[in-house]
Amino acid sequence: MNRADRKLVSTLVLEPGTGKAIELLKGQILRVEQVEGGQCVDFNCFNLHDYKESMHTGRTRTLHGLYPTEGHFMWSAPPRERAMMYILEDTVRCNDVMFPRCSANLYESVYGLPVHTNCHDIQAEAQREYGLTPDDVHDSFNLFMQTGVRPDGSLFIERHHSVPGDHVDLLALMDVLAVPNVCGADIMRTSNFAIKPVRLSVFEATEADWAMVPALKTWATQRTPADFRNSRIKATRELRRDPGYSPEFTNVPIVYEGHAITLDDEEFALLTKHARRDLYGDDDALALRDIVFTWWEQTFLGRD
Ligand SMILES: [Zn+2]
Repeated sequence: MNRADRKLVSTLVLEPGTGKAIELLKGQILRVEQVEGGQCVDFNCFNLHDYKESMHTGRTRTLHGLYPTEGHFMWSAPPRERAMMYILEDTVRCNDVMFPRCSANLYESVYGLPVHTNCHDIQAEAQREYGLTPDDVHDSFNLFMQTGVRPDGSLFIERHHSVPGDHVDLLALMDVLAVPNVCGADIMRTSNFAIKPVRLSVFEATEADWAMVPALKTWATQRTPADFRNSRIKATRELRRDPGYSPEFTNVPIVYEGHAITLDDEEFALLTKHARRDLYGDDDALALRDIVFTWWEQTFLGRD
């Protein structure tokens, strides 16, 4: 794809063992690029104006599957649940949102190496430039990481085959602090048993780039701190009970109300034909709900 008309804002080489917090304004693109090939990159992303909104691998995983790639969004955690970045281009298509960042404890407890480069400490050190603490590092989006799931549900890491020039282009849909780091794992398959530099480049997105982003709805349930009953960020570590607390759970107390539905003969025949009697027995109401839900999933979510 021709990207020649994109304006380059900055570029740097991320050396092995390091990470870098980069202010990325809405409409800027971060390119994470292989220099030697075969290098995994862990990635964190925060709303630049409110660090409490950060990328959520769980929501991203639910919406886009285990291997987010070109054409997918990176979502923030509930209750924000906004698209923070969009994956414009991905030449390798092996990113992961299952594995957590590697950590100092992993290398000590599993490999007997108490002092070792690791993604958590690298992320924390890079984020410290913006006043964040090691507790603020979130589950990483693992770029260029080839992973899979065995039939028994256990996870595995495979070698991957990126080559110099392979890249992932991430478009900022809001002002973010983007924090990539060179994964510190040189004793696993993650980066083919070596840690190597990667190149970071920031570009201004063009109209052609924006045209690739699918339109997004906005929802009333994408809440901001203005909607929170408590929006004050705690500044102490100890937890203390709020004596004035009184719970206000949504729709509580829950009340079930029955509504009679009349089916004509044709509708009743359809219900009889499709009802999961193995699951619901003679309970027509539950069977009907199951049929409606299945139809809704197929129609609106495209699921079989
Ligand atoms: Zn790592």
